[in-house]
Amino acid sequence: MSKRPYDDSHEHPCTCCGATIRPVVQKQDGHNESEEYNCPECGKEYSTRASLPITRVVLVSGRTDGRTGRCPD
Ligand SMILES: [Zn+2]
Repeated sequence: MSKRPYDDSHEHPCTCCGATIRPVVQKQDGHNESEEYNCPECGKEYSTRASLPITRVVLVSGRTDGRTGRCPD
């Protein structure tokens, strides 16, 4: 599976639990840093380029792995 970082605020599946998530990212030319966010279902950490810390991650659809709690990795 590709390790390419997600570089925009489009939704994507969580590679750990299968939920579809969308970080709410604010961007500004020349002022982008790597900001971290977590899957709201399992807590898996991702990072993307953003102007401000990511305070909100939209859960588009729930996890599909049938488990609860954090993912093991
Ligand atoms: Zn997840």
